Amino acid sequence: MKITILGSGTSTGVPEYKCECETCQDARVYGSKNYRTRSSIHVESAGKHLQFDVAPNFIDQIDRNKIDHIDAVIYTHCHADHISGTNDLVMPCRKQQIDMPIYGPEETIRIIQRNYDYMFLKDTFQGGGVAHLLPHPVAESFSLFDQEVIPIPVQHGTVVTYGYRIQNFGYVPDVKVLPEASLQLLQGVDLLIIDALSFNPGHPTHFAVQQAMEVSEKLQPKATYLTHIMHRLDHRYFPEQCREQGIDLPDNIELCFDGQVLDL
Ligand SMILES: [Zn+2]
Ligand SMILES: [Zn+2]
Ligand SMILES: [Zn+2]
Repeated sequence: MKITILGSGTSTGVPEYKCECETCQDARVYGSKNYRTRSSIHVESAGKHLQFDVAPNFIDQIDRNKIDHIDAVIYTHCHADHISGTNDLVMPCRKQQIDMPIYGPEETIRIIQRNYDYMFLKDTFQGGGVAHLLPHPVAESFSLFDQEVIPIPVQHGTVVTYGYRIQNFGYVPDVKVLPEASLQLLQGVDLLIIDALSFNPGHPTHFAVQQAMEVSEKLQPKATYLTHIMHRLDHRYFPEQCREQGIDLPDNIELCFDGQVLDL
């Protein structure tokens, strides 16, 4: 399995507009690991290409990371930073001459159908500028190209939100509470990519580093990577930042960065 981190940033992206903090200043330097587009990954598994979320930066993300094929899109939830590149599925659909199957919580699929109604009206809207989507709401484990995909229900604000598991890989980009039953669904993962917005455990909708670490300690994956990161966390000084917060960062936990490729 090959996992490409297309985006590792929170909903604002990093740099944050008009922010002059050290992280944001560094993020504006070409090639900085602190430059973070909105969270999304691309997974190649058993010869199939699965796209997780379609961020506002989607078309740039897939171009820059040389993603040349997408077989299906799997959405985690309906927040704008995870769905608002959806119109740009037109390019992969046009190049591959397909209608794109999309999967996600029923609520997410419904909101995509509302926001992008023309992408579901094949008879009305035709031509090279429009892609067509094939909706598949999911609530439980499902088979996709002969691979089991397991939704991991989490609490994240007021919208229905899933992480996902495929084989021994878990992806949970937006989470405030990971219920015990969902933790069980992640037992045995070797690679975990999980939300860690900042060092503030009181954020209403996201894990902080400390909470992501607690989950990693319980699951004991070989490696845990933190994503959906805001500008408070700086790649250059992350271990030092953790020490300042009184956090003893284990060796198997690192920050994600855009363009990172993980093999499993
Ligand atoms: Zn998000
Ligand atoms: Zn900043
Ligand atoms: Zn969200």
